[in-house]
Amino acid sequence: MLTTMKEMLQTAQEGCYAVGAFNILDYNSTLAVVRAAEELQAPVIVQTSAKTVRFWGHSPIVSWIKEIAGASPVPVVLHLDHCKDIELIKQCIDTGWTSVMVDASSKPFEENLALTRKVVELADAGEVSVEAELGEIVGVEDDKSVAEQDAHLADPDKAVAFCQDLHLAAFAPAIGTAHGVYKGEPKLAFDRLEEIANRTGIPIALHGGTGLSDEIFHRCIELGCAKINISTQLKYAFIDGFVDYHLAHREYEPLKPLAAQFERIKQEVKERIDLFGGAGWAARGSGGSQ
Ligand SMILES: [Zn+2]
Repeated sequence: MLTTMKEMLQTAQEGCYAVGAFNILDYNSTLAVVRAAEELQAPVIVQTSAKTVRFWGHSPIVSWIKEIAGASPVPVVLHLDHCKDIELIKQCIDTGWTSVMVDASSKPFEENLALTRKVVELADAGEVSVEAELGEIVGVEDDKSVAEQDAHLADPDKAVAFCQDLHLAAFAPAIGTAHGVYKGEPKLAFDRLEEIANRTGIPIALHGGTGLSDEIFHRCIELGCAKINISTQLKYAFIDGFVDYHLAHREYEPLKPLAAQFERIKQEVKERIDLFGGAGWAARGSGGSQ
C-alpha cells in the first residue's frame, strides 16, 4: 500500500533498521524495487529525482506507482528526492507523491528554514511527509579538500534550532557522505551524526549511500539513520543490467535485456534492504500508517 514516511521511519529508528530509498528511472525499475521489497516483506521508499519528474511528467510516475504499489502487501512511499523548486514540490504534493524533500541547503540558514517551513505547510495540507537538509551534502565530483568538506557539515546547535517545530519525517544533515562514486573510503562525522540524531529526535536520512562499507552502514543505523538513499548504484544496475545482457547475446529482442535489467535491479535492491535490516518488518505490521 502507498503510505507516508513519518511513521515508517519512526518505526525503523525504534527497531534499529533503516528503510532503503531507491531512485527509480522508469516503470521497470519501479517494479523491480517494489518486487524486491515484497520478496523480503520490507517497507520501501521509491524516490524520484526532480530530473526524472521533469523527464516523464508527474502523471505517468503516479500511475506506475499506483498500479505497482497500490495493491502491494508492503508499505511503499513515493518520495521526491532533493528539490529546490517549490513549484515542482507543490505539483508533486498535489498529484500523488506521499513524501517530498525540500533542499534549500545551499541557502543561508534563515532562508533554508523559511523555505522548509513553507514546504511543511503545503505538505501538511496535502497530508504528505517532509525531509529537509542542513549543511551541504556535496558531490564526489566536487573534489573538495577535507577542510572544505568540514565547512559543509551540519552544525548540531543549528540542527536543533532548524528541526524545532517542523515535525519533519526525516532530517538530512551533512555528515561527510557525498553523492556519486567514492574515490576512497569517505570520512564520516559519526560524532555529529550521533549528537544530531539524539538532540533532534528526528530519523536521519543518509545520503550518498552508494559505495559505503557494510560497517559504516551498520554504525550509521545504530546512531540514528532510518532512511538510506541509494541512487548511483541503481543507475549502474539499470545501464549494466541491460547492456551486459545485450553484449552476451547480441539479439534484438528488447524484452530480454529489459528482463535482465529488472532482475539485476531487484537483486541489488534486495541485498541493500537485507543489509539495512528491513527484511520482515512489513510482515510485523509496523511498516507505515494504513
Ligand atoms: Zn542526496
